[in-house]
Amino acid sequence: MTQKWAPETVVVETARPPRELDAPLNPAVVLSSTFVGTHDLGTDGADAEGIQYGRFGNPTWTPFERALAELERAELPGLVFASGLAAVSAALELVAPGGTVIMPRHCYLGSLSAAKDSAAVGRFDVVTVDIADTDSVQEAVSAAAARHHGTDRAVMLWIESPTNPMLEVADLPALVAHAKGVGALTVVDNTFATPLVQQPLTVGADVVVHSVTKYLAGHSDVVLGAALTSDPALHEALHHHRSIRGAVAGPWEVWLALRGLRTLALRVERSQQNAKELAQRLSAHPGVEVRFPGLATDPGHDRAVAQLKGFGSILCVVLPTSAAAQRATEAVSLWTPATSLGGVESLIERRRRHAHEPHSVPEGLLRLSVGIENVDDLWNDLEHALDTALAAT
Ligand SMILES: *Cc1c(COP(=O)(O)O)cnc(C)c1O
Repeated sequence: MTQKWAPETVVVETARPPRELDAPLNPAVVLSSTFVGTHDLGTDGADAEGIQYGRFGNPTWTPFERALAELERAELPGLVFASGLAAVSAALELVAPGGTVIMPRHCYLGSLSAAKDSAAVGRFDVVTVDIADTDSVQEAVSAAAARHHGTDRAVMLWIESPTNPMLEVADLPALVAHAKGVGALTVVDNTFATPLVQQPLTVGADVVVHSVTKYLAGHSDVVLGAALTSDPALHEALHHHRSIRGAVAGPWEVWLALRGLRTLALRVERSQQNAKELAQRLSAHPGVEVRFPGLATDPGHDRAVAQLKGFGSILCVVLPTSAAAQRATEAVSLWTPATSLGGVESLIERRRRHAHEPHSVPEGLLRLSVGIENVDDLWNDLEHALDTALAAT
């Protein structure tokens, strides 16, 4: 797809109905479970000639799916799913039976759980790696490829970068090129970065998945996912999975997500600025450690400078103890103590409250999803909460 406009323009300009007299500026929400048709149908019901039924498609999905493809530079329309995890599950199903999935040890917990559940019933093996350690990831991918003797789709490298919650930055071009070289599929969960910051398909990744719930929709009011690819066979497999397993999106959610997408560039720009400013102030604050790829001292900094357009809007603060981190989440009043990320409002969460969070994540780690509020208001509330939490130790 040739790129006519910059992404900041694309999000505003794209996915509009054709310009004609009295045309609305926004696409309609189509509330219909079935669509008129009489001709013979393919094996999964869906066909090229029409939608037929609400599990196979909905006219409300189409503009949003095209917009996502434009942003991610996919040659084929995106595929919306009922949630990010539904898109993740569909992508994991691309692995051949008995294959191997290589995943970051620090990764969205739901994605790891979905993969481990499949591994537990013998669907495929899961190997976890430190995604920032390029040599060890490449070794794991090569070893898996050798074990499977080049069987088609037997090996999948799952990349999240920056990772949740440690914000490690993977060498995406190197990992994708190596995986391709040994015939492994690559899937990139691009939720944290957004297509404004990183476009994995342009460096050769096979599939991109998103939790649209987060930055793309951006207002913490919908749960939605998407998968994108430029490969017709993979697109067909993902589409088939969606039609037959049935994790389909509601039209209202998709319409709201498109409305949210209109301001993606502004939101990302502002929240990234806020995150950088807060990271700098936090790194001068006694008693806490900061993780943020935008800081020159961060292990992911050089790669982030080379590969990302910006440093994202998530940062982590590490307090000395779990109890101190807990007190901080109870002392905020502007920040909301809640899981999730990518909305206009700032959220703070002690990650080890999740039973399955890996123990390599420090007990006192707080994940901050920085929103678009005034940065001094955010800082004052956070500083007060940290001081309160640290004073009690
Ligand atoms: C939230 C999230 C998911 C899961 O998406 P849902 O919309 O909650 O199902 C997957 N990956 C990442 C990185 C996420 O942040």
